[in-house]
Amino acid sequence: MPIYELRCESCGHEFEELVFRRSEVEKLACPKCGGPKVGLLLSAFATGASSKGSSGASTGGSCGSSGGFS
Ligand SMILES: [Zn+2]
Repeated sequence: MPIYELRCESCGHEFEELVFRRSEVEKLACPKCGGPKVGLLLSAFATGASSKGSSGASTGGSCGSSGGFS
């Protein structure tokens, strides 16, 4: 689920909100002071599992020897 960490630019209150569409972030208001200026801190949805399938690229090749062939 896309849970975003948000921070109010008016009072600095940080809170989490479940946002289905990123455009909804601009419609959110601070639950503490009601300020309309809410900034996106980071998406917990995107952290952690960002690099997929990056292993197994550096195995010792068998055809890397050069020279000695005359
Ligand atoms: Zn606020």
